[in-house]
Amino acid sequence: MAGTAISGRLTGRLVWQRATLLAVTEETAGARSLAFEVPGWPGHLGGQHVDLRLTADDGYTAQRSYSMSAPAGGDLVTITVQRVDDGEVSPYLVDQLRIGDAVELRGPVGGWFVWRPTDPAPVLLVGGGSGVVPLMAMIRARRAAGSRVPFRLIYSVRTPADVLFARELRQPPIADGGLDTAWVYTREAPAGAAGLPHRITLSDLTAHGWPADLEPMCFVCGPTGFVEAVATALVDLGHPADRVKTERFGPSGS
Ligand SMILES: Cc1cc2nc3c(=O)[nH]c(=O)nc-3n(C[C@H](O)[C@H](O)[C@H](O)COP(=O)(O)OP(=O)(O)OC[C@H]3O[C@@H](n4cnc5c(N)ncnc54)[C@H](O)[C@@H]3O)c2cc1C
Repeated sequence: MAGTAISGRLTGRLVWQRATLLAVTEETAGARSLAFEVPGWPGHLGGQHVDLRLTADDGYTAQRSYSMSAPAGGDLVTITVQRVDDGEVSPYLVDQLRIGDAVELRGPVGGWFVWRPTDPAPVLLVGGGSGVVPLMAMIRARRAAGSRVPFRLIYSVRTPADVLFARELRQPPIADGGLDTAWVYTREAPAGAAGLPHRITLSDLTAHGWPADLEPMCFVCGPTGFVEAVATALVDLGHPADRVKTERFGPSGS
C-alpha cells in the first residue's frame, strides 16, 4: 500500500487509500461528520474533496464525492455527509458506518475551488444545504492560519433544524473575528427572523455580500440549480466570472 501511494503521488495520479473511521459528530438529525484516519495523507486545502468508495462482500462497489469539512491535520480527513433519503451511499454513511469501520478514500481532489490563506482578497461564501461543507473548511482554515482576511458567509438552508455546524456558526470562536454570517431559510424561519422563508435573492447578495469593486473572491456551493442562480446573480451584480468559483453537489433544488 505505501509503495503504491508513493508512486501515485510521484506521477500525480491519485490512489485509493484505506481510511478508518475514528470519530463521529452528529450535526443534525440527517447529517454527521466522519473523521477518518488515513495513514500518509498528503494534506489538503479548504474547498477540496475526496472520492469515497464502498465495497460490498460480493465485490460490488459504489463511489461518491465528499468535500472535506475541516482543514488538513496530520492523517485526519473529516467529511460531513447529509443523508439523501432515497440515496444509495449517504444513508449508509450517516446511519450505519461505525467507529473502526474502513472505507477507501482517494484525494485530495480539485485545485480550483480552493481558498489559500495567502490570498488577501475579501471572501464571500454562499452555501446551499450541504454546500456549506467545503465553505466550513475554508472558515476553519482561515482560523487555523490566524488570517484576518474578511469573510462573509450567506447560508441558505431549509429550516433551523437543518443547519450544519450550528454551534460554531451561531457562536463563532473569538478567532473567527471578521467572519459575518447571514442566514436565508427556504422553508421555515426561526421565530424573530426578519422576513419570510424564501430562496436567495439578488437583494440578499447585495445586503450580505461584498460590493464588486472590492474585488472579493466568491465561492458558491450547493445543488446545481442553487449554484447556477447564485453565480448568475453575482455576475449580474458586477463580479467578474473568474472570481465566482462554483462547486455543484447534486441534481435537484435546495
Ligand atoms: C464535488 C462534490 C462534493 C460533494 N460533497 C458533499 C458533501 O460534502 N456532503 C454531502 O452530503 N454530499 C456531497 N456531495 C454529494 C454526494 O457526492 C452524493 O451525491 C450524495 O451523498 C448522494 O449520494 P447517494 O448515493 O446517497 O444518492 P444517489 O443514490 O446517488 O441518488 C439517489 C437520489 O437522490 C438524488 N440525489 C443525488 N445526489 C443528490 C444531492 N446531492 N442532493 C439532492 N438529491 C440528490 C438523485 O437524483 C437520486 O434521485 C458532493 C458531490 C460532489 C460532486
